[in-house]
Amino acid sequence: MVNIDWSKANRHKRGDGHIQLRKTVDGKHYYKDEHVYVWELYNGEKPKGYNIHHIDENPSNNDISNLELLSFSGHKRRHSGHILKDGAWWKPCGMCGVLKEEQKDFYLTTAKGQSKYFSICKQCDRERSTEYRNNMIANDLELFVARRKNNNGKYYSKNKDNPNYLARKKATQIRYLEKKKRLLNSGE
Ligand SMILES: [Zn+2]
Ligand SMILES: [Zn+2]
Repeated sequence: MVNIDWSKANRHKRGDGHIQLRKTVDGKHYYKDEHVYVWELYNGEKPKGYNIHHIDENPSNNDISNLELLSFSGHKRRHSGHILKDGAWWKPCGMCGVLKEEQKDFYLTTAKGQSKYFSICKQCDRERSTEYRNNMIANDLELFVARRKNNNGKYYSKNKDNPNYLARKKATQIRYLEKKKRLLNSGE
């Protein structure tokens, strides 16, 4: 492993705004992100599983006061609007937009062995479920009423008085008998 003096390296601004340090030693090219280099000058080697985050979200501002060490998951959270408050993550609800505590105000779901918090808060989820249920009930009721309506626009009080219902029931019975006959004929 070559010891590289990055203080005299060429600075190259990447398309995404990050500054890359480039150095050629004995004909070999070496690269390092400037924000990592600056952070390590003050803190020593960056631990594995961590990112250096730009606090003002300007990837070219590599002043040490603008750099923060975050775990991969913490870094991802930070970029999706999460805030660390007294050791707990807070995030904006995807529906009402209010900043709420992730562990307390969001449901946790486990899909494919991975734990994940809902993107909408418990309150919004409850309201959405209630709305969904009410819609279902309304739809069912509409269907129920429509089925019982006779040709004169009146309602049948019982299914057995409804000719449409009786016709459907009869058709189902015929299908069942035909299927039974087919099965009896095929199985010798
Ligand atoms: Zn970042
Ligand atoms: Zn909400």
